[in-house]
Amino acid sequence: MNMQTLNNEFSALNARFDSGGDLAVYKTLLESTNAIPWKIDWATMQFSYIGPQIEPLLGWAQDSWKTVEDWSSRMHEDDREFAVNYCVSQSVAGLDHEMDYRALTKDNGYVWIRDVIHVVRNDAGEVDCLIGFMFDISERKKIEQELVSLQEKLERLSYEDGLTGLSNRRMFDKYLADEWANVGDATKPLSLIMLDIDHFKQYNDFYGHLQGDECLKSVAAALKTVAKNDRDIVARFGGEEFVLLLPGTNDAEAVAVANECLNQIAALKLPHEKSATSPHVTASVGVKTIVPPAGMVPSDFVKSVDKLLYTAKNTGRNTVVSSGAI
Ligand code: GH3
Ligand code: MG
Ligand code: MG
Repeated sequence: MNMQTLNNEFSALNARFDSGGDLAVYKTLLESTNAIPWKIDWATMQFSYIGPQIEPLLGWAQDSWKTVEDWSSRMHEDDREFAVNYCVSQSVAGLDHEMDYRALTKDNGYVWIRDVIHVVRNDAGEVDCLIGFMFDISERKKIEQELVSLQEKLERLSYEDGLTGLSNRRMFDKYLADEWANVGDATKPLSLIMLDIDHFKQYNDFYGHLQGDECLKSVAAALKTVAKNDRDIVARFGGEEFVLLLPGTNDAEAVAVANECLNQIAALKLPHEKSATSPHVTASVGVKTIVPPAGMVPSDFVKSVDKLLYTAKNTGRNTVVSSGAI
């Protein structure tokens, strides 16, 4: 059935709806579906029909739908401009279309509607009327929105360390790769601090694994207070190793931040009876600043800082070793 025929059928139905017989059956069918049928006369921009289902859905009486203004004004203001412009442009172009918008209810709520619109032309090819169906898609929109927020939550969790709430290794790797691509000149150095808790195996053995977890959480919280710039990132690299990536921080500043990490951990005064280094929990740190040279990959940088950390372990622990120091 083409649009013209459909229009003729619709007009005929419209005119004869109240005349009884088979048409009464069609009318009953049309008005008992969940989709709300409507028709707008293009020349007058008046509703010539809207299904009675509109009233239970939105609260506005069936006979209150008189002109297109009644339609556009009963629409969420954030959706109105797009919906009206889209409908007009498609209709003028003679294109059937559909769109989603929030229709306002009489009691100041809204209902998500999908409006499916057929453009009907007369014999001269001019737009004669629009006929359509409004579908209540609130339930679908609600599920879509729940899915989006679940996806966002999953995305967040996949970048977060479950124990400490810091960024995890995955996030660090991604962030490092991004920053690596960003730094291109000597005015934008990139600093990396790697920190490893001293004698943590003994800590676990003596205080128990759960207490070990608490220790990791306290150290993580202390490190978070040290990273002050917006683009700094503190991450759990794995086990009892942490990293701070400090974009735009020069070598002197980075060494100061590394020392501050040790100060903050010392300030926690977490007892560590089995440490050969100190009566309290301590850590060792490697720190280095570079402007990534061409051909160098991020993992080379991480490896070189890890070497500095290894040196810190071998030179007594509870200390900072920077690339300038060796
Ligand atoms: P060093 O001073 O040379 O760094 O020695 P260490 O004992 O700290 O290093 P080692 O690598 O031998 O031990 C690290 C320990 O960290 C072993 C492991 O059981 C513990 N560990 C790793 N992840 C966790 C965790 O999530 N929770 C707890 N409680 N312990 C962890
Ligand atoms: Mg370790
Ligand atoms: Mg350790």
